[in-house]
Amino acid sequence: MPELPEVEITRRGIEPYLTGNVITGVRVGERKLRWPIPRNLAARITGRRIARVTRRGKYILIDCEGDGKAGGLILHLGMSGSLRILDGKSEPQRHDHFDLLLGKRLMRLHDPRRFGAVLWQEGDIARHPLLARLGAEPLEDAFTGRLLHAATRKRKAAVKLVLMDAGVVAGVGNIYANESLFHAGINPRAAAGRLSLARCEALAAAIKSTLKKALAAGGSSLRDFVHSDGTSGYFQQQYYVYGRAGLPCRNCGTAIRQLRQGQRSTFYCPACQK
Ligand SMILES: [Zn+2]
Repeated sequence: MPELPEVEITRRGIEPYLTGNVITGVRVGERKLRWPIPRNLAARITGRRIARVTRRGKYILIDCEGDGKAGGLILHLGMSGSLRILDGKSEPQRHDHFDLLLGKRLMRLHDPRRFGAVLWQEGDIARHPLLARLGAEPLEDAFTGRLLHAATRKRKAAVKLVLMDAGVVAGVGNIYANESLFHAGINPRAAAGRLSLARCEALAAAIKSTLKKALAAGGSSLRDFVHSDGTSGYFQQQYYVYGRAGLPCRNCGTAIRQLRQGQRSTFYCPACQK
């Protein structure tokens, strides 16, 4: 599943091909993604110029200008989505559900499991209900231990579940919640509201550093990520706890444990994470 670092690498990969270009049309294959692709999208978007490509949580935002009106495309990669930049004449293959036509080139959404999304917001894109409810952006300076501490008071739920609540911090998925809690030495079952300020600071720092490390690892694969003909370009990394149940902790050698929280797998070291 594409997590925040893959989404950001994707954004960086497509940005040079989109910004400043005029949208010449769209091709919709399968309209039924996580939410249906709007039926009037072609009429709304054709002829508009792409002003910028940004990211909020795991959403890629394509701000468009035209007719003196603002508006934007909101893309989500879901469970299995990927975006590629291709020659404008390239034929869609199986699971290629959406093309944004850009004259000589096109940007294609490939999504076998169809949990991705292509949405349109007229006016200020940040006002879309999916975006308006998002919490702090983890890689921005505004996301601090102090903010995390304030946001988690009164939260009785396990800290792992609170980290994956996009209303608190945007786009920290299962892998990075597991890894960050390990690096901060915090048990994933600890009640979020009982973490001290110092532990929230350690956790915020761990979230930033694990995401940045993943970005650095993915940066080297940026070319492949956007141009590859292969199915998925998600990059592999060496994890400390994620997917390592029963294997020795890289820090202390204790066997990593696995449990279920909110229908997702949690991995942790019982010795390192108190
Ligand atoms: Zn350990």
